[in-house]
Amino acid sequence: MRDRSTYTGLPKNEIDWFPKIDKKKCRPDECGFICVKFCPFGVFSHNGNGFVDVLKPYECNVGDESCRFQCPYDAISFPKREELKEMLRKVRTKYEKKEG
Ligand code: SF4
Repeated sequence: MRDRSTYTGLPKNEIDWFPKIDKKKCRPDECGFICVKFCPFGVFSHNGNGFVDVLKPYECNVGDESCRFQCPYDAISFPKREELKEMLRKVRTKYEKKEG
């Protein structure tokens, strides 16, 4: 199985790329928990109170925001591309310093 703990050699749990759910827009009773069913990595979970939480954020594929387009209520958001680049730059710099 492919190693899912790193992204381009960097530890994924230090890269803050994951979805956020706008609780005001989220309507799981209407959509039938589309995001929970859609994500193959279990990033979203029922929270037991009829809503959805991002329970495994670092399981998300870095740069992948395909679930966002599944939500019929536009309740899912991700960091902007520029923010992702900056996150990657910081983590990369940290590990380059450790190696050097
Ligand atoms: S698909 Fe959208 S509306 Fe449905 S549970 Fe997920 S975030 Fe909420």
